[in-house]
Amino acid sequence: MNIILLGAPGSGKGTQAKRLEAVRNMAQLSTGDMLRQEITSDSALGRKAKGIIDAGELVPDGLMIELIAARIDQEDVRKGFVLDGFPRTTAQAEALDRMLQKKDLKLDRVVEMKVDENAMIERIVGRFTCAKCGAGYHDKFHRPATDNACDQCGGTEFTRRTDDTAETVRARLRAYHEQTVPIVSYYLNKGLIKSIDGMAPIDEVTHLVDEALG
Ligand code: AMP
Repeated sequence: MNIILLGAPGSGKGTQAKRLEAVRNMAQLSTGDMLRQEITSDSALGRKAKGIIDAGELVPDGLMIELIAARIDQEDVRKGFVLDGFPRTTAQAEALDRMLQKKDLKLDRVVEMKVDENAMIERIVGRFTCAKCGAGYHDKFHRPATDNACDQCGGTEFTRRTDDTAETVRARLRAYHEQTVPIVSYYLNKGLIKSIDGMAPIDEVTHLVDEALG
């Protein structure tokens, strides 16, 4: 099954995509994670993307389409994939259609995770992850059981995304409205959209995603 998780920054796409990867053995294609890897490895793309990401803006379509086209070429995508963070513009959605058609693949479902955007700033600004195993935490909603040690691996170093500041989140929400929301009607017209309540507790959202996938 090939799907897209669509939703505002902080709506929980990454969390649910990881669960789909673990439970349904789908390949998680997260363009945000790919870009952060490019930044860590100090590649030419990473250097171009860093300032744009920290300003809360979108990386140009041409670069993103190239990045995802290379990923979709890889063999593991054939087992089924969950796109998390792509497409974010109509041009990207159209390019994705062309890419999939060329590879004889099709999109089965687009799950729109609906959230109260006023709550997103608090959700995003408080989040941090274990530097060793990547487990996710939150200052207010999900602290490690023992302060300063990861529940899952005992790691004691944690990281925060440089674009998870209140100011950048506001810009990211603006970009979502202006550039990403129009693709909801693009997929509505294709009959692919199912909308779910992304404000429910995480396990309940997982259940709703499952139902939406049928
Ligand atoms: P995310 O981890 O999905 O929140 O993405 C973090 C940032 O990476 C975004 O705010 C954008 O600056 C950039 N980014 C990720 N995916 C895309 C995309 N499909 N198109 C443009 N920019 C993207």
